[in-house]
Amino acid sequence: MSAIVLDGKHVAQLTEAALTERVAALKAKTNNRTPVLATILVGDDPASATYVKMKGNACRRIGMESKAIELPSTTRTNGLLAEIEALNNDPDVHGILLQHPVPSQIDERAAFDMIALEKDVDGVTCLGFGRMSMGESAYGCATPQGIMRLLDHYEIELSGKHAVVVGRSPILGKPMAMMMLQADATVTICHSRTQGLEEHIKRADVIVGAVGRPEFIRADWIKDGAVVVDAGYHPGGVGDIEMAPLIDRVAAYTPVPGGVGPMTINTLIMQTVESGEKALG
Ligand code: NAP
Repeated sequence: MSAIVLDGKHVAQLTEAALTERVAALKAKTNNRTPVLATILVGDDPASATYVKMKGNACRRIGMESKAIELPSTTRTNGLLAEIEALNNDPDVHGILLQHPVPSQIDERAAFDMIALEKDVDGVTCLGFGRMSMGESAYGCATPQGIMRLLDHYEIELSGKHAVVVGRSPILGKPMAMMMLQADATVTICHSRTQGLEEHIKRADVIVGAVGRPEFIRADWIKDGAVVVDAGYHPGGVGDIEMAPLIDRVAAYTPVPGGVGPMTINTLIMQTVESGEKALG
């Protein structure tokens, strides 16, 4: 079987070309105003700093502006909430990204939920999650929304399929499961207390690995002809799923790297452009 490679890098590049045109059109209409993404980085975690930098670079590539806010690692919840409130009230900011994770003394959930719904372009608020789950309009959480866009681009049918999502984090597994349910899949959510994980995975038509452990999901748990989505990325270029033995016997798979990763940032900037168009256009 020749599997479809769910090439996130390619889809992200196509989308960036279209977004560049949309930003240019908006500038022409608004006396040079562009959508603006505010990024908030709290503390000095090098991986988080790299992610924030990559997000700023993606904004620049499509001609859009970003505003970087860096707060010390000693920041407390109230201080962060005040920063977010100021950005909510700033008419020149159209999207807010709070880089996860924040230092442990901060109530991250309270901070996420401070973000105004119309600026929640990373899809992290409880309100946005609830609305999305109910089929109401809201920006989807960037990583799972990016996965949905990738599956849609390659015309992977989800309706009636059995999707197994391994992981239930607020930014990945949970919204992923709700999005697949919205797309009429029958969804099983697995987590660290799941019993018989292997048996659940063996029944998956679509499997999403969002565990955070290198090659934790073994290739021989996955049936022939499945669609395999790996959100993980670990040193050595492996994901959460043992992918190499699968590529000749599954229907489609995401490469690591170059599958899910590029779609996350791409979705964030796409949703910021949408928000900017609504506010300025
Ligand atoms: P997370 O918050 O650590 O959540 C991991 C999930 O895996 C939890 O729900 C946990 O269950 C579950 N889990 C842990 N051990 C398990 C086990 N033995 N059996 C079954 N489930 C188990 O991680 P995350 O933020 O969702 O990230 C997941 C993966 O996606 C990571 O590899 C991360 O690097 C990647 N990621 C990629 C992007 C991207 O842009 N490409 C973005 C975000 C994350 P419990 O809830 O029971 O603890």
